Amino acid sequence: MENTQETKDFLKSFGLSEETIALGEKYEKELKPRFEEIDKIAEYNQLKVIKAMQDNRLSDIHFAATTGYGYNDLGRETLEKVYASIFHTEDALVRPQITCGTHALTIALAANLRPGDELFSPVGKPYDTLEGVIGITKQKGSLAEFGITYRQVDLLDDGSFDYENIKKAINDKTKLVTIQRSKGYQTRPTLSVEAIGELIAFIKGIKPEVIVMVDNCYGEFVEKIEPTDVGADLCVGSLIKNPGGGLVASGGYIAGKAEYIENCAFRLTAPGLGKEVGATLGINQSMFQGLFLAPTVVASALKGAIFAARIYEDLGYPVIPNGTEPRYDIIQAVTLGSAEKLIAFCGGIQASSPVDSFVVPEGWAMPGYNSDVIMAAGNFIQGSSIELSADGPITEPYAVYFQGGLTWYHAKLGILTSLDRVLKVS
Ligand SMILES: *Cc1c(COP(=O)(O)O)cnc(C)c1O
Repeated sequence: MENTQETKDFLKSFGLSEETIALGEKYEKELKPRFEEIDKIAEYNQLKVIKAMQDNRLSDIHFAATTGYGYNDLGRETLEKVYASIFHTEDALVRPQITCGTHALTIALAANLRPGDELFSPVGKPYDTLEGVIGITKQKGSLAEFGITYRQVDLLDDGSFDYENIKKAINDKTKLVTIQRSKGYQTRPTLSVEAIGELIAFIKGIKPEVIVMVDNCYGEFVEKIEPTDVGADLCVGSLIKNPGGGLVASGGYIAGKAEYIENCAFRLTAPGLGKEVGATLGINQSMFQGLFLAPTVVASALKGAIFAARIYEDLGYPVIPNGTEPRYDIIQAVTLGSAEKLIAFCGGIQASSPVDSFVVPEGWAMPGYNSDVIMAAGNFIQGSSIELSADGPITEPYAVYFQGGLTWYHAKLGILTSLDRVLKVS
């Protein structure tokens, strides 16, 4: 796409050079067919969301606030039905009281495992924050402290499933299988929903009664189907990522089989109280509206990720995923190779943000990391990673992980601003 002269001049006023703007135009033009594919998926998912809202007779009354115990919160109950419709599940738990993705996953695990049970990951190490939850690293209150054991089988070197060892690992105690869809901040590939379906079929062929949970963080609405469409019993995610559409201020969701969702509700609130309580304090409207916007917001984030991948790979930087392969989540990794470039990249993302654009990100000694970590996020909602955001440890190989972009135009501005600064370093 060529920018109009007015847009070009405006981009220049953000400090971008002619060269950077021209480079952006070249790749935007090249990626047009790819962007059209993304838009088609977004349209399909938009229809899915509207249908779910219509089928559940969403109405103005559902935006009212409840307080106190939150009994008879019609908005909350309808929101959970809408999520269940979208994920094609019996039930869902969608709550602002679920503080983050890690919390949602912890609820799903702790609610459905009992002492003596074993948790199994057939896709290698789970997301960092879950190590303490499971007890892979020693942590007070971990599942391990409650007598729940853990086993894992890594992916093979080519990223495929190690079926032989998965079969060997499943035993009498195996109660719940956890599958992480997104690579998160690892270098393994992100799993397609189709691949997850194949893995689930294999596992259920060995032990049909096992509960399969998918960590769906960063995956929602990237494809036309979700893991619950291919046999997952539970699907879990954060509302300050994809399904919140950038509008939800706090929350998480768990969609799945009614029996397991009831266990989750008993764990989140209290045994016997379950889904009946939980005041929504007036945020239902944003939960619905964010979900409504989510398919197009995810499309914007995907366009940004692919745009950056194509530019940086042509400039000779290693990128995961590359600019042409299929996408199953919204995370993009670019190995920049030097601290200066990593800092320049994050500075560009920050400077192009709508909020805190005047702040200069610096590395800091984040707990749990061996090196300084730099983060850029000029967000409306703290820590929201469906908004354009970037971070990376300031150490070899100086890789930046970035994701999000509520609109494609913002993602584009952020990536071009970063690029301009990275190019000036070299
Ligand atoms: C973000 C994420 C989580 C949860 O992280 P929170 O910061 O607690 O929301 C879990 N798994 C994956 C793959 C994630 O991307």
